[in-house]
Amino acid sequence: MKNSRLEVIEIEDIKVSVQRKNIKNMYLRVKAERGEVKISAPLSMNRDRIVRFIYSKLPWIRQHLASGKEKEIPKEINYLTGDTVKLWGQKYSLVVQPKISGSKVCVQGEQVILKAPVDSTFEEREKIWQDFCRAELKKRIPGLISKWEPAMGVQVYQWNVKKMKTRWGSCNIAKKRIWLSLMLAQKPKECLEEVVVHEMVHLLEAGHNKRFYGYMDRFLPQWRLWDQWLKQIV
Ligand SMILES: [Zn+2]
Repeated sequence: MKNSRLEVIEIEDIKVSVQRKNIKNMYLRVKAERGEVKISAPLSMNRDRIVRFIYSKLPWIRQHLASGKEKEIPKEINYLTGDTVKLWGQKYSLVVQPKISGSKVCVQGEQVILKAPVDSTFEEREKIWQDFCRAELKKRIPGLISKWEPAMGVQVYQWNVKKMKTRWGSCNIAKKRIWLSLMLAQKPKECLEEVVVHEMVHLLEAGHNKRFYGYMDRFLPQWRLWDQWLKQIV
């Protein structure tokens, strides 16, 4: 193809071949058996954004280089009509419409309608979608915490939804505070429950040891399955 360019970006010890193509989304592929990391990026995307993207995926890249298996996933979208977004484990086709009135995001059948100004930027559209995902999570989390507090005999003093790069949740045991990843809105609802229970179990046991997994097996016997769903990328 005439309109494609190849560039190599080196970050830490990892060399990433970046191929510019006439596409809308950035794709990351790790060919572990050959030690290759490749990105296909839209022609107009600036280099800084690609570098930021690589940095944000470094733990994932390292993990898959080490695994020896080939992986490809579309990891970043531009929030334009035709893109795919995920909510509670379901894929939806995105339709961007100018905002007239009413809510900014609505789910209709297999579509997600995102209302944004015609001249909106990627960052603005991303924020609208992420605000919606945060609100979805915040609707469900209190019910899960109040379900599990009496069952486990613990109390959560504070919780919040955060953008987390490498983890699904965290627990500050002294403050009895749990943080949950915004990305959990993309996963099946069971995964959210698994992460909430995992972080709450830390109020009983700090480490990931036999005692910890004993509690997990007792409270949520199917947690391993849900943990697998969490790790599946598509
Ligand atoms: Zn943990």
